[in-house]
Amino acid sequence: MEKIRTRFAPSPTGFLHIGGMRTALFGFLYARHNNGNFILRIEDTDRTRLVEGALEDIIASLKWIGIEWDEGPDIGGPYAPYRQSERKNIYRNMAFDLIKTGHAYKCFCTPDRLKMLRENSSSENQKKIESAQGYDRHCRNLDGKDIKDLEEKAVPFVIRLKIPEEDRTVFQDSIRGEIITKNVVLEDIILLKSDGFPTYHLANVVDDHLMSITHVIRGDEWISSTPVHVILYNAFGWKRPAFAHAPVILSPEGGKLSKRHGATMVREFMQKGYLKEALLNFLALLGWSLDDKTEFFSMDDLVKQFELHKINKAPANFSYEKLDWFNGMYIRKMGTEELYDLILPFLIEGNLLKKEEIGSKKEYILKILPLIQERLKYLSDAVGLTCFFFDEHFKIREKQDLIPKKSTREDALKILDMSISYLRALEPFQISDIEKSLREMVTALEMKIGQVFMTIRIAITGTRVSPGLFETIFVLGKDRVMNRLTGAREILLRMG
Ligand code: GLU
Repeated sequence: MEKIRTRFAPSPTGFLHIGGMRTALFGFLYARHNNGNFILRIEDTDRTRLVEGALEDIIASLKWIGIEWDEGPDIGGPYAPYRQSERKNIYRNMAFDLIKTGHAYKCFCTPDRLKMLRENSSSENQKKIESAQGYDRHCRNLDGKDIKDLEEKAVPFVIRLKIPEEDRTVFQDSIRGEIITKNVVLEDIILLKSDGFPTYHLANVVDDHLMSITHVIRGDEWISSTPVHVILYNAFGWKRPAFAHAPVILSPEGGKLSKRHGATMVREFMQKGYLKEALLNFLALLGWSLDDKTEFFSMDDLVKQFELHKINKAPANFSYEKLDWFNGMYIRKMGTEELYDLILPFLIEGNLLKKEEIGSKKEYILKILPLIQERLKYLSDAVGLTCFFFDEHFKIREKQDLIPKKSTREDALKILDMSISYLRALEPFQISDIEKSLREMVTALEMKIGQVFMTIRIAITGTRVSPGLFETIFVLGKDRVMNRLTGAREILLRMG
């Protein structure tokens, strides 16, 4: 049986978009599911749109989520090179072959003439006519002598595809079924530009053929290009691959997904602190489902279960809410050590920790993490939730909060004094004793428990919302707690 070969063919015109990642994922899963090969090919023939660092970003993003390729620009392979800019001659020769076989022609039209055509074709009248917008096929009918003259004068030219006279072009899409296009709406598109670089259409088809790609899996936005690709395969006399166009990804409300809604580039999701497992799980379900009820999938599950015919036709709405839910679920499932490794870069980035302190503070941080794990939506939340554990970042901002509502400074002082003496007496400093002792203290104080604990909480964390009070006191440790209670006491005294 033929070996399945799929590819992801991004253009390095920007950082990897989440939609691109979904396309790559589907291609990767289909190949792996069928013990096939997955290829990374870089489509960089549009030199004007290249963005520096884009290729590195694409590679890093794919690797991060666990997509690996068997052949690609970084690792080579039997069909190298995998960067289209290094394959220029191949396309050029192919384009000239098509002229010889009568499927393409040289077009000598000047940029000015083309501009005029574009302007005319956008007029209202023209819009009503059901025919190809764009090039009027002027050079398609030049006779041999005219062509020779122009060639002798070295007039610059492009090579265009001759859309066949037949009525229509038909292909089968694995997701959408039969797609029929009337040839009159197709333009004699450019295959080779005057600078000798191919256009996307030519390079894409030539490479999919030469690289023995069996399944072209890509986003829906390319479906309108496919009829032209089919015509090209026919013109070359090549067997065409299967086509599968995955549904478009829309915003939560159904419009175009844009920055306004949240992160859109893979690197932004990484920076915000999404787990790769959560993003992977979420992306797989953007347009694919196993049975409409199974929600959790690891990469192994997906490889085992991914089938092309289970990709939906309907557009997929990108629900950040759902993604956040997955993220929380995966964070909570994580072991402390694992979470530590992932959170460390955020703590360093957030200036809570210096690189040289990693070794000495690891044990302390490992105790802190279980206290905040439940409340983490993104890994980056760890910075805000843990900062008071680090002395340099601890600060009581709202001093008034030390004084319980409907209460007095004197009451607050009494709470702090008592806490200091109760907690100082504890040796060892055990969580169960901390709780017992503070509860006894509340009884002795004859005050409301909420009031008492709020004062202590503000005194030792600087904030009203923090993890459980006893756990926090325990993890902060006796020295730190004593210092902070004393410090808060001094603040109150100064307020007087
Ligand atoms: N280079 C195209 C892109 O940037 C590839 C489309 C395709 O997969 O055919 O998405």
